[in-house]
Amino acid sequence: MRYKNQNQDKYKKVLCPNCNSNDVIKWCKRKTKNRGEIQRYKCKSCKSYFTIDDGFFRMRNTPQKITQSVDLFYRGVSTRKVQEHLAIFHPHNASHMSVYNWIVKYSKMISKFTNKLKVSVGEEAQIDEIEFHRRQYHEKGMKGTEKNFFIDSIDPDTKFLISSEYSKTRGSQNIKAVVKRIKEKTDDQIKTATTDGWNAYGKVIKKVWGYNNKLGRYNVFHNRVIVSEKDETFNYPIERLHNSVRARTKVMRGFHGSINSANAIMKGYEIYYNFVTKHQQIKCCPYELAIPELAEILKENKNKWVALINMANQQSI
Ligand SMILES: [Zn+2]
Repeated sequence: MRYKNQNQDKYKKVLCPNCNSNDVIKWCKRKTKNRGEIQRYKCKSCKSYFTIDDGFFRMRNTPQKITQSVDLFYRGVSTRKVQEHLAIFHPHNASHMSVYNWIVKYSKMISKFTNKLKVSVGEEAQIDEIEFHRRQYHEKGMKGTEKNFFIDSIDPDTKFLISSEYSKTRGSQNIKAVVKRIKEKTDDQIKTATTDGWNAYGKVIKKVWGYNNKLGRYNVFHNRVIVSEKDETFNYPIERLHNSVRARTKVMRGFHGSINSANAIMKGYEIYYNFVTKHQQIKCCPYELAIPELAEILKENKNKWVALINMANQQSI
């Protein structure tokens, strides 16, 4: 049984910024220097004309160049190598710091939209964490590394990465942020939460999903799997995801900069994993199974980065 579609209101149509009316029509296109032709609109209620910010407003580079850079980065190319690539194929130079800033900016922008999407999943959510060592050069002149955690949850059926956060610690508050979003995105679909032996999970799972007085038990069963060191892997979908994350982040040789930008970079990875790259086992992107109505809307868009950036912006108008 497919999960009831509650996302329709999130794929909003264009609204007039002046009077909020949705009685708008497409008008002629306006030529811009860096962004090609921009669609203009006319509001039939207040007779005003407007364009909408498609997410690339005031950017000095084209959406194609920007998203090509972001895409290359998540496929394993360093920001410096992306910059070298751009220098060959595009007329205007961009620094590797511009590339880095695009990754952070657009990962944040898209995830504000995708974090709120309802997903259609199975009955189990697997939750786990990966330990990271973040270099601290830029923070208050401190040197050395800090231990952080990438806490995430995957649906074994669709392989969709339901929720993730890059956090300073793996304490209850950090775990709760991830678990709360699983609940928001899946409503009452999850019946079992599978975790490792880390003891912060139990309380959070009970608290977030709550107790069912009628049934006399907790709404979600906590399946705590304790893996001994010698078993190495328990071969769960989340383990496989973690192998990919480790392989990708190894190239980054530790995150630079603030915890905020490290989180944004991992948000971008979540987007890449869910919406951009085909999962080998299911032979499509996880979102095609978990959010089929969005897949229907996006099927004509080859560049999912641009499509999601556009959608993320229409939403806020
Ligand atoms: Zn209007």
